[in-house]
Amino acid sequence: MTDDFDLLIVGGGMVGASLAHALKALPLRIGIIEAYPLHDEKQPSFDSRAIALSYGSRRIFDTLGVWQAMVAETVTPITRIHVSDRGHFGSVRMDAAEEGVEALGYVAEASVIGRALAANLGELPNVELICPATLSDVQISDEQASVTVEQGGVLRELTAKLLVAADGGRSTVRELLGARTFRLGYGQTAIIANVTTERGHGGIAYERFTDSGPLALLPNNAPAWMEDGESGDKRWSLVWTVRDRDVEEHRALSDALFISRLQKRLGKRAGRILSATPRHAYPLGLEYVRDHVRHRLAFIGNAAHLIHPVAGQGFNLGLRDVAALAEVLMEAVSAQHDPGLLETLQRYAKWRRPDYLRVMGMTDTLARTFSNDFTPLVVARNLGMVAMDLIPPLRRLLTHQAMGVNGRQSRLARGVTLEGNG
Ligand SMILES: Cc1cc2nc3c(=O)[nH]c(=O)nc-3n(C[C@H](O)[C@H](O)[C@H](O)COP(=O)(O)OP(=O)(O)OC[C@H]3O[C@@H](n4cnc5c(N)ncnc54)[C@H](O)[C@@H]3O)c2cc1C
Repeated sequence: MTDDFDLLIVGGGMVGASLAHALKALPLRIGIIEAYPLHDEKQPSFDSRAIALSYGSRRIFDTLGVWQAMVAETVTPITRIHVSDRGHFGSVRMDAAEEGVEALGYVAEASVIGRALAANLGELPNVELICPATLSDVQISDEQASVTVEQGGVLRELTAKLLVAADGGRSTVRELLGARTFRLGYGQTAIIANVTTERGHGGIAYERFTDSGPLALLPNNAPAWMEDGESGDKRWSLVWTVRDRDVEEHRALSDALFISRLQKRLGKRAGRILSATPRHAYPLGLEYVRDHVRHRLAFIGNAAHLIHPVAGQGFNLGLRDVAALAEVLMEAVSAQHDPGLLETLQRYAKWRRPDYLRVMGMTDTLARTFSNDFTPLVVARNLGMVAMDLIPPLRRLLTHQAMGVNGRQSRLARGVTLEGNG
């Protein structure tokens, strides 16, 4: 095999691997450069996080033909979302029945998403898995993108008409090319764990705002192979945002003390908490690359935008990048255009911009205004929640954002494959 590709994807995590699936029907020779073996338990993208997938993401995965593999391992439908502000009067409720859908979204282990995406990636006829291999250099010229990877102690030079950076929030591509990046810290860290309760979750997800930051409790039945105890509907995944200075203390708490603190924050909503798994911490911030495309280069997923996990939007946003970029590339290939031309890539950037602004604006506002005890702000946000709850068109707007169906919908999200269009 030669080392000249049409398209090279750096990063075979949840977003990069999804892009390879989205492009599998196009007549493009694709290489995926990934640092970790896809089935390795250390693969950082497929770790112990639980991911709330929007209804729109489910539709994209369905069209890509990978959804059933996730369902076979276990995904948990979210039928209702309850948002509240601890110690205050405001709350909003969203309901799948009101929208006439089976679920507003689904919760899946990142490892379940990863296994479904990785299952046949190496067998896709137009995809070469360059893995484990680490990117060490990138050069962009008028004609091509050239990269150097280190694979098994040997340096390998690869070229492509288009380089797609899907290498996550600490993107090496971004660093090697000196891409201008906007960064903002929140002074907050997410602590994740799985908990079990006395009562079944009934498909309800809770988002509760507290003085240290937001706390989400997602209904999450465990896949049969998972060894963390409860496999039925009494298992939940917790994302608890705390101040950076309080992280170590929270991690060091005994299970009993951790549960008691959590119970105090949650109240009786989910019932009595019985157990909690070991905790993992993720520092939080807002980060985005200022130019999402250049000639022969596009950023997608966390490499393009890293957001606060409040409202569970990060991966969903990345999957919408995948669907939009795949569609733009399909059109370019159909018209026999070079897929790496700036004008082609600008169509992708222009399409994605309103969604970025909406989601980054929303998550940033939620992370800030709901972690603040300044009285006028508390009153304003609670009045806002009451208005959302009582005024159906407002509530609908919020529900559609949570479902990932606002704005321009890609072909993949509408159930239309890209097959036969290359
Ligand atoms: C606590 C928490 C909870 C979250 N919950 C949700 C949620 O409920 N819903 C949601 O939509 N999102 C959620 N997110 C966000 C979501 O996890 C991310 O948006 C998603 O993982 C991004 O995927 P990615 O593939 O872009 O990047 P990553 O997952 O970071 O993957 C990047 C890949 O690139 C590879 N790589 C990196 N550098 C190199 C290199 N130099 N050479 C080769 N390979 C390389 C890595 O090995 C990795 O496989 C959450 C995030 C956190 C922290």
